[in-house]
Amino acid sequence: MEKIIYDLNENECMQLLEKVRWKNGVFCPHCKSKKNIVKNGHVNAYQNYICKNCNHSFTVRTGTVFSHSKIPLKRWFIAVISLDKCSIMNIAEKLGLYYHTAYNLVKKIRKICVS
Ligand SMILES: [Zn+2]
Repeated sequence: MEKIIYDLNENECMQLLEKVRWKNGVFCPHCKSKKNIVKNGHVNAYQNYICKNCNHSFTVRTGTVFSHSKIPLKRWFIAVISLDKCSIMNIAEKLGLYYHTAYNLVKKIRKICVS
């Protein structure tokens, strides 16, 4: 798994997230509607969608732990798969992040794993 993630580019990471999150089809994170969802350009290279039901736009990151993060998905994924075997310092080095940023990343991921 680790090797696969390292070989992915950001776009492929996004597709992976879409597959996992929307395995039963795209749904609106605002109103949970699965109907009347149309593609609407791109936001920061992410496919943007508009829900005609509630008129909100969203991407696959909306409503997830990734949603307000400037950190690329690939780094998140690497952090997730590194959690068990690496220290936060190792993860920070691996991802080229400051310790503090890596610490917050790990904290957020642990929070999702627990909830
Ligand atoms: Zn909606």
